[in-house]
Amino acid sequence: MEEYILAIDQGTTSTRAVVFDRQGKVRAMSQREVSLNYPKPGWVEADAAEIWISVVYTMIDLVRNQQIDPKAICGIGITNQRETTVIWDKRTGVPIYPAIVWQSVQTADICQELRTEGAEELILKKTGLKLNPYFSASKIRWILDTQEGAREKAERGDLLFGTIDSWLVYRMTNQLHVTDYSNASRTMLFNIHTLSWDPELLRMFRIPETMLPEVKNSSEIYGMTAPYHFFGLEVPVAGIAGDQQAALFGHRCFAKGKAKNTYGTGCFLLMNAGDTPIISEQGLVTTIGWGLDGKITYALEGSIFSAGSAIQWLRDGLQIIDSVGESEELAESVEDSGGVYMVPAFTGMGAPYWEDKMKCTLLGITRGSNKAHIARAALESIAYQTREVMEAMHKDSQMKLSSLAVDGGASKNQLLMQFQSDILGKKVIRSECVEMTALGAAFLAGLAVGFWENTKELETLKIPESSFFPTLPEEEKESKFAKWKMAVQAARVFQGE
Ligand code: ADP
Repeated sequence: MEEYILAIDQGTTSTRAVVFDRQGKVRAMSQREVSLNYPKPGWVEADAAEIWISVVYTMIDLVRNQQIDPKAICGIGITNQRETTVIWDKRTGVPIYPAIVWQSVQTADICQELRTEGAEELILKKTGLKLNPYFSASKIRWILDTQEGAREKAERGDLLFGTIDSWLVYRMTNQLHVTDYSNASRTMLFNIHTLSWDPELLRMFRIPETMLPEVKNSSEIYGMTAPYHFFGLEVPVAGIAGDQQAALFGHRCFAKGKAKNTYGTGCFLLMNAGDTPIISEQGLVTTIGWGLDGKITYALEGSIFSAGSAIQWLRDGLQIIDSVGESEELAESVEDSGGVYMVPAFTGMGAPYWEDKMKCTLLGITRGSNKAHIARAALESIAYQTREVMEAMHKDSQMKLSSLAVDGGASKNQLLMQFQSDILGKKVIRSECVEMTALGAAFLAGLAVGFWENTKELETLKIPESSFFPTLPEEEKESKFAKWKMAVQAARVFQGE
């Protein structure tokens, strides 16, 4: 019987279960949407029970409807939306509040208060992160502060915290409470130098340590599935990593200086920084890529908040296209953006600016401008932001990338990929495997159970890809980029409420 690895990719809006064979090829895939709730402006929450049920559903679908024999699964890897916070009762396993999703800003006041107290630098030094509601710590504190009796229960040791990986492993196994280094490094409670929960940060956020999961390697057998949750079988749960780190692993960026960019709702550019953390001076964050064989690999990350979402806005807001795919045809109908620039700060701007209050801005419009120029400007803005992050990475790391590996929904857009290569002046290598995140989780689990021997073997696997080469003359490339920077400066001046 042919054997497989199962990867669960629990994302913000959907859960995917993907079965991979020994060649790293997708053998079967099942997907289920997960709903989000917006109880107040800026708040984003999800039902943790629904998230777990979506995982169960996709696993059943693979077996029932896609002829995957559960006995053929040698190991399970989990990759997840990062930072999203769940707190549940240890005795009942029931969450005491909905999962607070990474994008949610209900904890902005807590962060502001800590900023006023001057905590920002200490946090950056210890965790590599920017003090921002995006990360888990302020979300945990908010639940303990606002839910009746929660703090007392937490102090008695009756509550457990987990990011989505922990929550799923707790359910899938016999209540193991674990996480991996990559997810721990996104909580803002984990000291990335000492590799432990940091007592000073726990005090600052008023969080009892008993709530926190044990931090493990990203690739090891954590435990077995509880048979009643996995077709009567005990299968090793053997890999965990946050989604962006898993994609870095899926791209096989095992060597220091290798990087990938994932073009989804936002864009996340991560570079393998080797075995020593680099604390950014350029508006990037430092994070743990993975822990493997007892060794930590660090990564530098540029988180761009609006990328594919700018294209969704062309469809839903401006209504100049019917589908996101159409953006390519429309943009192609003009030679260039005709001097139009879009700064897509729909939810403020992330790396390298971190400006909460910026708004999307269109500049350079003349009587000759039309919707095709705007579509082109939107696509180009994704590439410009990527170049800014890449330049920040060069400065922080003193390393120059010679090419960029890419994946994600918007990387299907040929025009965008060509422009990306043009504006970087570098080769762009696009993976044709659309499930790089899941593949990374499968690799981590497969290594732990001996399905693959080592990373050398993973490097020999043939994952189809296509390449884009720069064609734009140097002068034109630099003049376009200089104008983009001017556009950002103009947009920064206008910070409406
Ligand atoms: P996520 O995992 O963040 O949901 P995906 O990797 O599924 O993202 O990609 C979806 C995003 O990619 C959407 O924001 C969508 O607008 C964008 N997108 C998908 N296809 C295209 C395309 N052909 N051209 C431009 N953008 C696209």
